[in-house]
Amino acid sequence: MKYALVTGGSRGIGRAVCLSLAEMGYKILINFQSNVQEAEKTLELIREKGSDGELMQFNVSKKQEVESVLGAWIEKNEDKTIEVLVNNAGIRKDNLLMWMTEDEWHNVLDISLNGFYYITRLVVKGMLVKKYGRIVNVVSLSGIKGMPGQTNYSASKAAIIGATKALAQEVGRRGVTVNAVAPGFIVTDMTKDINEKDFKSLIPLARFGTAEEVANVVSFLASDKASYITGEVISVNGGLYT
Ligand code: NAP
Repeated sequence: MKYALVTGGSRGIGRAVCLSLAEMGYKILINFQSNVQEAEKTLELIREKGSDGELMQFNVSKKQEVESVLGAWIEKNEDKTIEVLVNNAGIRKDNLLMWMTEDEWHNVLDISLNGFYYITRLVVKGMLVKKYGRIVNVVSLSGIKGMPGQTNYSASKAAIIGATKALAQEVGRRGVTVNAVAPGFIVTDMTKDINEKDFKSLIPLARFGTAEEVANVVSFLASDKASYITGEVISVNGGLYT
C-alpha cells in the first residue's frame, strides 16, 4: 500500500494537495496541528475521490510528538510505504525585525524549518530502502525574494530551499527526488487578512492564485512525470518577478 504524507493537510494548500494525490491513487496521511474538524473534512473529501487515509495529529515543531506519532506509525506499518512526503505545514507571524519578539521568530522557524528536519529524516529512510521517493517542500516567494515584515518567514523558507538542494544531491542516486514549490499570494486562511484588491495590480495575472493551482504543481513533482527533476524550486505566483 502506497501512502503520501502531507503536513498541514487539514486546510488550504495542504488539503488541495491531499485531494490531488488521492486522485493519483495514494492513500493519504493527513497531518494537522489542532483542527480536527477540518482534518476530518479533508478525509471525507479524499473518500469521495475513491481513496482513503488516516488523520495524523502532531505539531511538526515538536520532536517528541513527531517521533511518538509518525515514528510509531512507521514502525507499526512495515508493510506500507510512504512514497510521497509533502512538507507543507507553515505559519506567518509578520513584524518588522526591530519589533519582532523571540516567540514570533522561533515559532515560524521551528514549524517550517525544524518541522522539515524532524519529519524528513524519519521518512527518507524508507524511501532510500525502497529506492524510490518524492519529497516536495512548500516554500514561498518570500524565501526567494525576501519580503519586508517577514524576516522570520523569509529566513525559514530560504533555509528550506537550501536544504532542498542539498538533500536532492544526497539521495538522487537512490531514486529519491527533492523539490520545492514557491507560491506567491494564494487564497487560503493564511492570506485572509490581505486584501487582494491592494495587491493584484502587482501581479501580471492580476489575481491571487488558488490552492488547487499550487497542488497541481506539487502533484506533478510527486508523479513519475517529474522523474528527471530534482533540486528545483518552481514558482507558482502569477508572474510576480522573483
Ligand atoms: P493555512 O490555510 O493557514 O493552513 C495551515 C496548515 O498548516 C493547517 O493545516 C494547519 O493545521 C497546519 N499547521 C500549522 N502549524 C502546524 C504545526 N505546528 N504542526 C502541524 N500542522 C500545522 O496555510 P496555507 O496558506 O495553506 O499554507 C500552506 C503552506 O504554503 C505554508 O507552508 C505556507 O507558508 C505556504 N505558502 C502559502 C502562501 C499563501 O499565500 N497562502 C504563499 C506562499 C507559501 P491546523 O488546521 O490544525 O491548524
